Amino acid sequence: MQTTIIEMNVFEKDIISKQSFMTFKELGLQDNILKAVAEKGYTKPSLIQEKAIPQILQGKDILASAQTGTGKTAGFTLPMLQKLEATKHPKYRPIRALILTPTRELAAQIYDNILAYSKYLDIRTAVIFGGVKPAKQISAINRGIDILVATPGRLLDLEGQNKLSLKRVEFLVLDEADRMLDMGFQRDINKILALLPKNRQNLLFSATFSKEIKKLANGFLTNPIMVESEPENSTVDKITQKIIRTDKSKKTDLIIKLIKDGDWQQVLVFTRTKHGANRLVKKMISKGVQAAAIHGNKSQGARTKALAGFKDGSVRVLVATDIAARGLDIPLLPHVINFELPNIAEDYVHRIGRTGRAGANGEAISLVSSDELEYVRSIEKLLGDKLKMEIIQDFEPSKITPDNEKPVTKDQRQAKQKQFRQRRDKRKSPQGKATSNASQKKRSYSKNRNTNR
Ligand code: AMP
Repeated sequence: MQTTIIEMNVFEKDIISKQSFMTFKELGLQDNILKAVAEKGYTKPSLIQEKAIPQILQGKDILASAQTGTGKTAGFTLPMLQKLEATKHPKYRPIRALILTPTRELAAQIYDNILAYSKYLDIRTAVIFGGVKPAKQISAINRGIDILVATPGRLLDLEGQNKLSLKRVEFLVLDEADRMLDMGFQRDINKILALLPKNRQNLLFSATFSKEIKKLANGFLTNPIMVESEPENSTVDKITQKIIRTDKSKKTDLIIKLIKDGDWQQVLVFTRTKHGANRLVKKMISKGVQAAAIHGNKSQGARTKALAGFKDGSVRVLVATDIAARGLDIPLLPHVINFELPNIAEDYVHRIGRTGRAGANGEAISLVSSDELEYVRSIEKLLGDKLKMEIIQDFEPSKITPDNEKPVTKDQRQAKQKQFRQRRDKRKSPQGKATSNASQKKRSYSKNRNTNR
């Protein structure tokens, strides 16, 4: 069940720029954990690790805003391992830590990380998720484990069959909680919470803080400490972003042309639906472009194979839906293409965060048909900036309405951008601080999120 770990990926690169000035030792971690961390090649904690580790060691509940790429997994695992190791029973090994994740990939990744971090400890971990036969998972649990990483459905299945007990859980981690709610796991989460002992330490990680997440957090966290990583849209300025206006019916030919003409060898493409992903992959393969899809309807085997092929270069284009792509540890990518824009502006930020952060090679391209223009406006609001629009000969959109849709000359575009900047600057406070930064962007995001559902 070991997944491939890419040595230097987009996330590690990003973490390096957000490292703390402290050392892992100064955060209170012990030698047998420090040794494993050093072997992973981490020299300094990331910001989320610096903030979360001491609090977790002190037994506090945590409400953390952090997405994949911030180092959050080590942020919750390292202190948890230390506490589990210090308090374990010499013989009796019940499940004492439960980590819930929305997707199988994320579960497998967390499991791999825990194995690496607990290399010098007497702590056992297992991972369970759907899409594969449960026999191996059950026998892993039967051998006795301290930590269980699980997706909600399979966990409830096995618990319902008395294959595991959650009565001794001391730690609960809800990872990517927002995604779990998006995927409809609210009821499963409630059922799982009801199976756990009342007295436990809870850690909730979420990329966003919607009303629903706050409600969930209020329901089971006790006096949580808020921990924030860098605002997630802070790095997107460095990525080259552009929109190509076209028609829906022309997108498939256009994307194939872009990939072929540009000779792009590793491209991540986002579609809004699973069927859309399948259709696009089929078409690409028929045109000689090696592609694979990754989404919730694919079996675990197919997903692992697609991801491995993409990492080793045999698959040139990986077509993914937002949910499947979330949490994937994939390498630095020169090209990310939105075949369709997401209807939630923040998903756009997650998607384009998959490309080169330094800006040198990273390019995020969105193919936009007229029915998606309202999404462009939401995204621009969130980013606080206008996106560059282009039209490609032979792929022009057939319906052009005046105003925002109209292709503009360079001069016109610059004049518009200037106007936009002036309007934005006007909103700045006398101290020169923008009144419309992070919190306001978050507000506009939640507004969009609510209206777009
Ligand atoms: P995560 O946000 O937990 O998914 O972690 C993203 C990636 O960053 C993983 O590949 C980790 O191995 C890596 N990572 C975690 N902590 C550090 C650190 N302190 N320094 C460098 N890389 C790290």
